Amino acid sequence: MTSMTRRGVLAGAVASAAAVGLAGTAAALPPATIAARRKFFGSRNVDPRTGRVRADRVVISWFGCTSYAVAFAGRVMLLDAWVPRGAHSGYVPTTVAEVAALRPFAIFIGHGHFDHARDAGDLARLSGATVVGTAEHCAQAARQAGAPIRTRAVGAESDPYGTHRRFRARKLRVSAIRHPHSAIKAPDVTDPHAPLVPLPDLSTNLAHPPSLCDLLDTVGHAGDAEGGVLLYQFRFRGFRLLWHDSVGPLIEDAPTLPALIRSLPRSDVHLGAVQGFGQLTNGMRDVRSYVQAARAPLFVPGHHDDWGVPVVSTQAGGYRAALEAELARIPAADRPRLRWMEDPAHYLRPRRLTFRL
Ligand SMILES: [Zn+2]
Ligand SMILES: [Zn+2]
Repeated sequence: MTSMTRRGVLAGAVASAAAVGLAGTAAALPPATIAARRKFFGSRNVDPRTGRVRADRVVISWFGCTSYAVAFAGRVMLLDAWVPRGAHSGYVPTTVAEVAALRPFAIFIGHGHFDHARDAGDLARLSGATVVGTAEHCAQAARQAGAPIRTRAVGAESDPYGTHRRFRARKLRVSAIRHPHSAIKAPDVTDPHAPLVPLPDLSTNLAHPPSLCDLLDTVGHAGDAEGGVLLYQFRFRGFRLLWHDSVGPLIEDAPTLPALIRSLPRSDVHLGAVQGFGQLTNGMRDVRSYVQAARAPLFVPGHHDDWGVPVVSTQAGGYRAALEAELARIPAADRPRLRWMEDPAHYLRPRRLTFRL
């Protein structure tokens, strides 16, 4: 009896030591984090025991507008911070709590409008991630959080367009470049385009009616300030990811920016906003400015989904023909392949945007 008990105690002690060792060396993450990472990044990319994402891939998971969860060489981060809601509820199949459970190390903010940054403060508070953006984006996130959060300012709204800041975030080399928000300009007579106005379509809102809570939340943040706009390039082991969450009139307002973007190491993947105020007079002209400057072999559109109220936004299909026609204006040798993304089918579909390092 005694020896049996001793053996039992010993076995228990060995098991506990193994568990502690596992937690210590492999850093097993909480079950909610493992579940969220498997949902966002795919079960084949996430270790079911530790929650670690494989280090030899870049896995990108779109969760609406220009918000992405990215596992870059195993490092989890967010680009923008908004789970679209307010004009609808439950259309994007996740929640702020679930995105926070991903345990990102950083949240990169392109600009401060609600459809990009409304959830930055809450996500940082819940996850411990560092908010990276202009000083204004950081201050806004800290106010939203209502509690101390980590922030890292890379410039300010007052920086002139073309201000280029380089820094490191974990293993990644990062460039952040100040560029203009989308804006309406006079029709460009040298490059005429038909106006692009989304047709009012209530189908998303009727199929996924908004809760009062989501509606009030979005109304309450509708006036959130821009705080400057940043374009980012992330580089690691020869892989480069370019991302910008607005598409400004470079031709009129930042004519030196294409050369600056072109001077970056050539990007492998370009995630770019395609919706913007410029489309009302110049169609997709401004999108082409960014695509031609980036020279990436693959272009992935964003901000073209049904993130808002009718007329402000429509489902992605409303943009496809205009985008394809615009890309067709680029000489074939320089034209990227289009990785089409549409809502809601491609939300949280990491297999569409998984790349080898
Ligand atoms: Zn904006
Ligand atoms: Zn926007």
